[in-house]
Amino acid sequence: MTAPLTADDLPIRPELVGVTAYGAPQLDVPVRLNTNENPHPPSPAVAAAIVDYIAEEVGGLQRYPDRDAVALRTDLADYLRVATGVELTEANVWAANGSNEVLQQLLQTFGGPGRTALGFEPSYSMHALIARGTGTEFASIPRDADFSIDVAAACDAIVRVEPSVVFVCSPNNPTGTAVDLEVVSRLYEQLVATGSGVLIVDEAYAEFSKRQSSATLLPGRPRLIVTRTMSKAFAFAGARVGYFAADPAVVEAVQRVRLPYHLSAITQAAARGALAHSTELLSAVDDLKVQRDRIVDACKEMGLRVADSDANFVLFGGFADQAAVWQRLLDAGVLVRDVGLPGWLRVTAGTPSETSTFLSALSAIASEPGAVIAATNVGQEST
Ligand SMILES: *Cc1c(COP(=O)(O)O)cnc(C)c1O
Repeated sequence: MTAPLTADDLPIRPELVGVTAYGAPQLDVPVRLNTNENPHPPSPAVAAAIVDYIAEEVGGLQRYPDRDAVALRTDLADYLRVATGVELTEANVWAANGSNEVLQQLLQTFGGPGRTALGFEPSYSMHALIARGTGTEFASIPRDADFSIDVAAACDAIVRVEPSVVFVCSPNNPTGTAVDLEVVSRLYEQLVATGSGVLIVDEAYAEFSKRQSSATLLPGRPRLIVTRTMSKAFAFAGARVGYFAADPAVVEAVQRVRLPYHLSAITQAAARGALAHSTELLSAVDDLKVQRDRIVDACKEMGLRVADSDANFVLFGGFADQAAVWQRLLDAGVLVRDVGLPGWLRVTAGTPSETSTFLSALSAIASEPGAVIAATNVGQEST
């Protein structure tokens, strides 16, 4: 019998050989806390309002959409201006199908063959994967034990690697820890002093953070790019809308690689409808922060290790065998994420009742002899 063909048997690009596709399991279990979604669906009134926006477009679908999504970018700039206090217009903002596509367009523009992107790990695994997909070399240096970025080591790495792109994720996925603006501006200065390169701050979880946005650093820093998404706080993951804010020259640069009409008329309309109701859509954020803090406190009480979180998820651990704990939680109907960090698991803050189900399942597992091996807690970066 011949083994079935796999992608590795095809003439794929050498850097794709042996690669595993991004794959958070999408399992049908009662409590899904593994992909950092906001668990609250839009209210019927907001859903109906979004449908009205979409309905307006359906009669015109014989035509291509606005290639440059100007109306949507204007609404996003208005939202960001209110959220961050930074003077931004549509010229500063670019949108695509999720911030992953935004990141891909940025790497197509600023990365590519012969160029290197630098990250500080553990961090969002897609940064490395999108780098590879765009032929960009990916280099990383480890974060400190408390998951903060050591500025001196990071500046050394910038000098050594001469990256074309530097990724800072804040609040960082999967650790939840935020990076001080002081660190962002020091890295920016080093990058500019070293030569070419752009600094991308991935702020997918900014709405859950008590820190100021790196968008406040944009004035006077044309090589700084702040990416955002509607997938998390906005409870809009299914619609696929991400965006960035930067100098207008960055927007112009990215327009050189984007596919024409990349953002469908339906997506643009849905996003505008959602932004018109941003207050309602974001109304669950405060409760999600309460659930997050509840998880942090409960994990500490259980004697687990836990990283203080500025996001809507918590990294918890100290487990002898995190894969076994992951399976036990799944057996109890709770899906969390094994992010590949030995001893650690990541859980998304859910509804109050989902969070309770998770915490009681976890407490039963953690109280078993031998389940937990270490209990030193991880603080956040000091301000
Ligand atoms: C979820 C996430 C994104 C991407 O989300 P999209 O749904 O593609 O907008 C980007 N960065 C980080 C750090 C994330 O966790």
